[in-house]
Amino acid sequence: MTTTTHNYKALHQDTSIQFIKGIGPKRAQALSRLGYETVGDLFYLFPRKYQDRSRFLPIDKIKVNEHVTLLGEIARIHIRRIKRLQIFELVIRDNTGVVYATWFNQVYLKKIFREGDKVVLSGKVEFYKRLQLSSPEYEILSSEDNEKIHTGRIVPIYPLSEGLWQRTLRSAMNVMVETHADELIEEFLPYSIMKKYEFMDLKDAIKNIHFPESEELLSKARQRIIYNELFLFQFALFKRKKEDKLSKQAFQFKPNPKLIHSFEEKLPFEFTQSQKKVINEIFDDLSKEIPMRRLLQGDVGSGKTVVAALGLLAVVKAGFQAALLVPTEILAEQHYKNISSLLSDWGVRTRLLTGSHDKAVKTNTRYEMKTHNVDIVIGTHALLQEGVKFSKLGLVVIDEQHKFGVRQRAHLIKESEKNLKSPHLLIMTATPIPRTLGLTLYGDLEISTIDELPKGRQPVKTYWITKTKEQDVFSFIVKGLEKNQQAYIVFPLIEESEKQDLQAAKKAFESLSKGVFKDFKVGLVHGKLDSSEKDKVMKEFYQGKIHVLVATSVIEVGIDNPNATLMLIQHAERFGLSALHQLRGRVGRGSQASYCFLFGNPKTDEGKRRLRVLTKSNDGFKIAEEDLLIRGPGDFLGTRQSGVPQFVLANLIQDYSTLVEARKDAQEVERLDPGLEREDNAGLKLKVDEYLKYYEERKV
Ligand code: ADP
Ligand code: MG
Repeated sequence: MTTTTHNYKALHQDTSIQFIKGIGPKRAQALSRLGYETVGDLFYLFPRKYQDRSRFLPIDKIKVNEHVTLLGEIARIHIRRIKRLQIFELVIRDNTGVVYATWFNQVYLKKIFREGDKVVLSGKVEFYKRLQLSSPEYEILSSEDNEKIHTGRIVPIYPLSEGLWQRTLRSAMNVMVETHADELIEEFLPYSIMKKYEFMDLKDAIKNIHFPESEELLSKARQRIIYNELFLFQFALFKRKKEDKLSKQAFQFKPNPKLIHSFEEKLPFEFTQSQKKVINEIFDDLSKEIPMRRLLQGDVGSGKTVVAALGLLAVVKAGFQAALLVPTEILAEQHYKNISSLLSDWGVRTRLLTGSHDKAVKTNTRYEMKTHNVDIVIGTHALLQEGVKFSKLGLVVIDEQHKFGVRQRAHLIKESEKNLKSPHLLIMTATPIPRTLGLTLYGDLEISTIDELPKGRQPVKTYWITKTKEQDVFSFIVKGLEKNQQAYIVFPLIEESEKQDLQAAKKAFESLSKGVFKDFKVGLVHGKLDSSEKDKVMKEFYQGKIHVLVATSVIEVGIDNPNATLMLIQHAERFGLSALHQLRGRVGRGSQASYCFLFGNPKTDEGKRRLRVLTKSNDGFKIAEEDLLIRGPGDFLGTRQSGVPQFVLANLIQDYSTLVEARKDAQEVERLDPGLEREDNAGLKLKVDEYLKYYEERKV
């Protein structure tokens, strides 16, 4: 190999990749488009897949429908025309026989292949009068190349971008790995961990990820890298959590435990065991000097609001203010009413702050906040605006966290940290976070779970119905209405097709109120109504003056009317699984049996699976897991906001047990050597800092 000493000597982790032999400025640019800038980066440009070229299948052994990789020589090249189709065809020969490879309408191929070239082809075998490979992947071998890199082994196939060729990149990677890995890659995992799992060295792992010596070693290398990703991620989370706690002090309360009892006495029901447990966890946190960072998760209807109300009360009783942040105005208004009435006997001053209030009202509320003339403010994004300040903010509660980004969450706490002390934070979510994600996403939060519904709740009976049965469903609903029950008819509304969606809901409202439901009062509510109109409709619905509520997805979160037992969801295929579960959670909130009918005609298998899952399960956790499986973690919470880093090899679901192990290990390392001061952890410290930097950067 002719590596110039100049390049060889100069290479270190931070060297720009253009100085690697075989890369140069042009290809470096192409690689930078993929996000790889330095030599250190490039070691982590992993193959997207591998091809086993250690043994090629002899042509006389190939069979229809099999996926094969073979090596042969181009015996002939044809270009044929059938009507307007142009067919490019290679006749490939090896010692055992002949096979065809064909491509449609790809004329440029004639510039690529020459008779006599040796090629590796990989693809599915089909039969059209004869055996052939249609549009196979190909790679032309050249006699000048070191064939040990491109054949005769398990060969890496890299992701490419414009200006990059598989063979050039592979050759360059080979130089990198063969010549520089030993010198540049340093182990950073503590010896105890290496030994515990009998891990492959990082050097060898990197070498085998790129140029596997065998399937077995490849799999060991993958295990090692997957562990790396998960371990570093968990370690970074711990570290951040610790720094957060060290650097900030909370207002400390000693909530009076008797408060729980006297609060409960005024309720028309008793707390469930789950609610009690969670309340104790929250009260414990509030009495500590370090700020609470707690996620409260519980299925729809599990009774999170009363728990939050009690927390707010405890803080106010101790002489502080509190904020409740919610994603929609309807929900803010409902919480406002609920909480005001729950706390009415305690002399708590509660205000609502939303975007649609008059300027004068907002100005006044803000003034009251600043001067501590209000105790609890319940609001939407309006709470997050500049200039909104509390005098003595002790607790922030965020409802339906998944509607807010990580950044917004940080903003509210930061604004108030200008008071030197940090408020406690309680985040509530009714989209239960599957355990997998809980650990990773919220590794910096403690988790409380309400895993029990109040007594007497019955699971909502859910049916997936075709349009042809529409009339039967309507008659069923009418029967329920005659027994004084109430119903929701829900229409999807998404931003992209907002106008048409709204139109559809309005039209349905017209025809339903004149048609099947003509003997009942029908109301319409959607996000475009102004807040007083919405308020009026919702109030009438709670009071039972409106029997049927035609609604767009605005009712998804939080709306609580225990007398509503019937729900019909139109175009259910257009909703996500979790969204459907949330919607369904609007019924089944009282003791009567409830029904949910899903009208939908999903085109994909995935869509059908979603609806089927709902008819089978009422368990929010199961549904969330399923949703995660179907959509993957990025989509599940909205990629940008989720705070989940992109792992290269690790998969949160498949590698869950590794994640749990890595988490324990990270905790242990941190316990034994807090701050990683020990010399033998110096390498790890460097790596973690580097990772943290990368992690924090990509979060903003
Ligand atoms: P979510 O967890 O979805 O926010 P809510 O707090 O809105 O649930 O509670 C749903 C309904 O259940 C409310 O009407 C609430 O008053 C009622 N509820 C809450 N806790 C209990 C309980 N322990 N027993 C009976 N009903 C309860
Ligand atoms: Mg709620």
